Amino acid sequence: MTPRVHDVAVIGGGISGVAAAYELAQAGIRVVLLEKGRLASMASGWTLGGVRQSGRHPAELPLARAAVRRWERLAEELDTEIEYRQEGNLRLARTPQEVARIQEMVAQQRALGLELDLLPDNAAVRAIAPALSREHVLAASYCPTDGHANPLATVQAYARAAERAGAEIRTHTRVDRVAVRGGKVVGVETPAGPIPVDQVVVAAGIYSDRLCRTAGVPLPLEPIHVAVVQSVPLPPLLRPVLGVANADFAGRQEVGGRLRMTASTGPWTHPDRELAPEDVQPPAEAVAALIRRAIHVLPPVAQAGIARVWGGLLDMTPDGLPVIDRIDPVEGLVVAAGFSGHGFCLGPITGQLVAELVQGRTPSLPLGPFRWDRFTETAPGAQAELYG
Ligand SMILES: Cc1cc2nc3c(=O)[nH]c(=O)nc-3n(C[C@H](O)[C@H](O)[C@H](O)COP(=O)(O)OP(=O)(O)OC[C@H]3O[C@@H](n4cnc5c(N)ncnc54)[C@H](O)[C@@H]3O)c2cc1C
Repeated sequence: MTPRVHDVAVIGGGISGVAAAYELAQAGIRVVLLEKGRLASMASGWTLGGVRQSGRHPAELPLARAAVRRWERLAEELDTEIEYRQEGNLRLARTPQEVARIQEMVAQQRALGLELDLLPDNAAVRAIAPALSREHVLAASYCPTDGHANPLATVQAYARAAERAGAEIRTHTRVDRVAVRGGKVVGVETPAGPIPVDQVVVAAGIYSDRLCRTAGVPLPLEPIHVAVVQSVPLPPLLRPVLGVANADFAGRQEVGGRLRMTASTGPWTHPDRELAPEDVQPPAEAVAALIRRAIHVLPPVAQAGIARVWGGLLDMTPDGLPVIDRIDPVEGLVVAAGFSGHGFCLGPITGQLVAELVQGRTPSLPLGPFRWDRFTETAPGAQAELYG
């Protein structure tokens, strides 16, 4: 019999998994994190890296606000530079209809207590971001406490801090099954053999459904495909993260000067095998449309050298909100997945909430909207929303 050296296995080395492993190790729990590839090899590496509260669903806003409070001191806490910059988020209106939409969003979010300004005309928006178009930007919302960070650096910083606190991180280790006996988690199975634990955290992004089904519980996830374009390093152009009212474009300038820009391209069907990086590369017409939208609001993009183009997938739930919950039918199973394009910002608070669930403590924020069993009742279709 395999000797038992861990209490909890976390499946997935994206931001949700590494943040959970860090919090668990900090709490003195013997945790092993299992990642089938490299750390941040899926959504947490593909991401734009926006850290945004503005425009969040009312149910998600308290999590985003709590996450931002953690981000503000995260570099210090993890003792690593993660290029977090609290430089704001502008959501742009390009048409009169979009102006109305932004006005409505600002009123709703301010009523929920968020510090969010309406910039009513082009001059007001360009006072924050002078490189924006004079003609095509009519108004914007501006949230000064939003920002952005380096996703790879953040995931690695969490992983190193988790290891320092006693977690074991195993990359290139795929979990094939969550092993359940008598309604209770007893371990996970990997190609190298079983790992006995009595709690499992599934934080496996788009593969979370597949893993949950091995424990007999479905998790409805529909992948949506997203294109990302990154420029060569450019002189300073843009401090806030950009989104647009209908979510068909988002972008930011990284600390090193590269522009990183993204747009969703539509639903995605899994190939019936492990994904290769080429599988998610975006089609040329989607890249061309993304670049056109970027130039429309940020004209200097027309002259920018393009360094890289990649694709990514979002783990969309039917209502566009994540599942952060103990899955009651199976004792010892906790899920943090289905972030639907918003999970990078939430990472620090996801880790904290998962650790509370694993320890059987009362969650520090209300998790009712993120329960797993809500999908047994309703399933309205959610749209991909990328606002940075
Ligand atoms: C292009 C793009 C732009 C985005 N922009 C933003 C943004 O601006 N702001 C924001 O907040 N969010 C954004 N998001 C969403 C955000 O990036 C994700 O919600 C977040 O990174 C999810 O992290 P995760 O750890 O839950 O999942 P992932 O990062 O996908 O991690 C899951 C990990 O599990 C591993 N895994 C899967 N199956 C197994 C298995 N069987 N065994 C072992 N390991 C396994 C995978 O290899 C992967 O590394 C964006 C996403 C994309 C794709």
